[in-house]
Amino acid sequence: MSQDCIFCKIAKNELPSEKVYEDDLVLAFNDIAPQAPVHVVIIPKEHYESILSISAGDEIIGHIHSVANRIALKLGIADSGFRLVNNCGKDGNQTVPHLHYHLLGGRPMLWPPG
Ligand code: AMP
Ligand code: ZN
Repeated sequence: MSQDCIFCKIAKNELPSEKVYEDDLVLAFNDIAPQAPVHVVIIPKEHYESILSISAGDEIIGHIHSVANRIALKLGIADSGFRLVNNCGKDGNQTVPHLHYHLLGGRPMLWPPG
């Protein structure tokens, strides 16, 4: 746990969130500023600053992807499609330094993303 990390606090129930999915390793919750009809943030409960903190052989990313799959089915966006996004660092516009994926759906997405 990183002391002042808001996603660590959400993972520990020290801050509230609208939970969509939870298991021992991962928590998913509705984004506080949704950019699409479905906008879920998926985080590992363990603190990783970004995707750059992931070592070869770490299974957390595969697990997050399978969780995204499950949530997309549960929320009814699997058939129409969706976007799974990871922002990394300054140019990636990562604003919370705790690894997370955005699951966005419920409307057509644009490409390229700004
Ligand atoms: P990023 O810009 O990729 O770092 O994404 C961080 C995301 O976390 C943004 O979409 C924020 O709206 C979202 N966010 C920040 N604080 C909270 C919170 N307390 N509960 C839910 N989502 C949050
Ligand atoms: Zn954290």
